[in-house]
Amino acid sequence: MSLLKYTARNGELIELKFKRSARKKIILRLDRAGNVSINVPSCLTLKKVQHWLCDNEHNLIQFWLQAQQIKQTVKALPKKIWFRGQSYMYEISQTNIILWNQQLGFTLPDLPLEDLRQLIVNWLKAQAQNELITRLGHWAQIMQLWPKAMALSQSKTFWGVCRNQTGIRLNWRLIGAPDYVIDYVCIHELSHLKHPNHSQAFWSLVAQYTSQIAQAKMWLRQYGYDLFKFD
Ligand SMILES: [Zn+2]
Repeated sequence: MSLLKYTARNGELIELKFKRSARKKIILRLDRAGNVSINVPSCLTLKKVQHWLCDNEHNLIQFWLQAQQIKQTVKALPKKIWFRGQSYMYEISQTNIILWNQQLGFTLPDLPLEDLRQLIVNWLKAQAQNELITRLGHWAQIMQLWPKAMALSQSKTFWGVCRNQTGIRLNWRLIGAPDYVIDYVCIHELSHLKHPNHSQAFWSLVAQYTSQIAQAKMWLRQYGYDLFKFD
């Protein structure tokens, strides 16, 4: 994708992400990162595009003002990324993908902030899909308790939820937590298949499979908030 520059009648310089497309119409778009893009039919010359922008300058300026507002409100990225119980520093580099190394931390592509945030969230969710669901299946096997389904959730209020009808859902952000915390949440939710409440019997079932209930709860109290910094 290249950049198309357009100078408005009031002198404002407007930059648009420029893309050719197979469509018949010119389309202006504003994305959540505050970028304005223009999709142009492949047959149209650049001169004609400039004419079109001139004819539609009123709309273009509206888009542009909205884009500036979005860019101002895009939040800075957190300084560290939590993954599997450790918070890692990251550096930006000439890479197209996210690289992770236990010693070196994260290497991230050089992208606009909001695109980078989205990429990190997607990466963490993909890891969560793999690790958390595998972990839950592992504990289901050991405990011989089978939920109707196992999935991830986006919840802002719980780490795990268990319902007889819909099964167990784990918050994807748990991928930032250490294994013993992930295990605790899995065991906790699976135990709810037998005991829907938090009775004495429930807790003694949980305690049969983990000796780190208190530590896990403590970890979530202490660092849980940090796991919500990427949204
Ligand atoms: Zn519970």
